[in-house]
Amino acid sequence: MFSRFKKQPSAAGEASPAFSISVLIAISALCFSSIIQASDIVGARVWRAPDNTRLVLDLNGAVEHSILTLQSPDRIVVDIKNGRLATASTLSSLQLSESPIKNIRYANKDKHDLRIVLDLKEKVKPRSFLLKADGELKDRLVIDLYDEGNGKRAVKTQQAKQSSGSRDIVVAIDAGHGGEDPGALGPNNLREKHVVLAIAKELEALLKKQPGYRPYLTRTGDYYIGLGQRPALARKQQADIFISIHADAFTNPQANGASVFALSQGGSSSTMAKYLAKTENRADLVGGVTLADHDDMLAGVLLDLSMTANRDASTKVGSKVLSNMGGVARLHSKRVGYAGFAVLKSADIPSILVETGFISNPGEASKLRTKSYQRKMAKAIYQGVDGYFQKYPPAGSLIAANKAGGSKRYTVVSGDTLSAIAHRYNVSQGALKSANNISGSQIRVGQRLTIPSS
Ligand SMILES: [Zn+2]
Repeated sequence: MFSRFKKQPSAAGEASPAFSISVLIAISALCFSSIIQASDIVGARVWRAPDNTRLVLDLNGAVEHSILTLQSPDRIVVDIKNGRLATASTLSSLQLSESPIKNIRYANKDKHDLRIVLDLKEKVKPRSFLLKADGELKDRLVIDLYDEGNGKRAVKTQQAKQSSGSRDIVVAIDAGHGGEDPGALGPNNLREKHVVLAIAKELEALLKKQPGYRPYLTRTGDYYIGLGQRPALARKQQADIFISIHADAFTNPQANGASVFALSQGGSSSTMAKYLAKTENRADLVGGVTLADHDDMLAGVLLDLSMTANRDASTKVGSKVLSNMGGVARLHSKRVGYAGFAVLKSADIPSILVETGFISNPGEASKLRTKSYQRKMAKAIYQGVDGYFQKYPPAGSLIAANKAGGSKRYTVVSGDTLSAIAHRYNVSQGALKSANNISGSQIRVGQRLTIPSS
């Protein structure tokens, strides 16, 4: 009857050997105590990602569990030793419509154990692990269900458009955190993961309007992606640049201002940079680390030579973004900072991490939550990126072809003025007007302008 029986490795099994030993001791100690003490499931959440669904059970202690896949009908059985459900509504109130789960049932098994059955709408590959309590988060049992079969839901890898030798520049936009990892928390429950996704989507919309660019979002909804997986997704899209967007917290609520970081060669450029890198890199402890992530990061770190060239490009684009953000926000530092952010460890793609402000600062948080400010921030990032690529267009790109041809095209977005566009492209207002047959100073959103060569 059992088609497959798999006891999944715990998160501890995937950590470094030294770490595993201490964790294993801790877990066996917990297992011993769990013989007497039952563990309650006190909360549950479901996160839907493009190719998988994550079910998270909050526990008030570590548990032993096993998971098996059964067929006809398709279902997953999760047995939790000495488990108890705090209240029936914990599982029955879950929103399952977007997930492959049709229904969740549960029953006591052998007096002490809890059996949870996930009835499925379609076949999935399960993977489960335990996460230790961390900060406000409790011990958790994480069950990831990977979509199987014809991959109806799976994300397709889109190749960069190749048309008559002038391709689009691919901009990978990485909204930090997501799902089980909310990122920093601001006043009135403002969460970093929501703010940065909103800014990322504004930036995507701006880039979509400009000929020569193809934006790609690593995260499109409220779910978690591992830190190593983010640059890997960008690489699959053959991205020309990787921009991770954040709005972090600092120990001091007075701290404010926007900043831009590139990967450091070793040490961090400031205490703040070191602190931010440490808190950001902790995200994988919250979201669940996989071995594949480590392999990917290691591969990235080994290519040290190409990283030096990459750091130079990252610094250049970072400076452009920073100077444009200076027109919207106070800058925390006028120079690109350097820190060991795991998400920036791409050897082959210039990568920056943009801190749009401190969500822990009440004044900045109240701005960050508004659509208009999110839009301004996205526009500043866009202008920085565009400024960089107008100067250093990748070979074979449409922007490179336009540059060689002596003129560029620009589509007007909301908030643009003729003088600002002229300033950005380093041309006179008069030249800009005559190239486009404009007599007054009126331009409209969506209007395509020819930028004359300066
Ligand atoms: Zn962050």
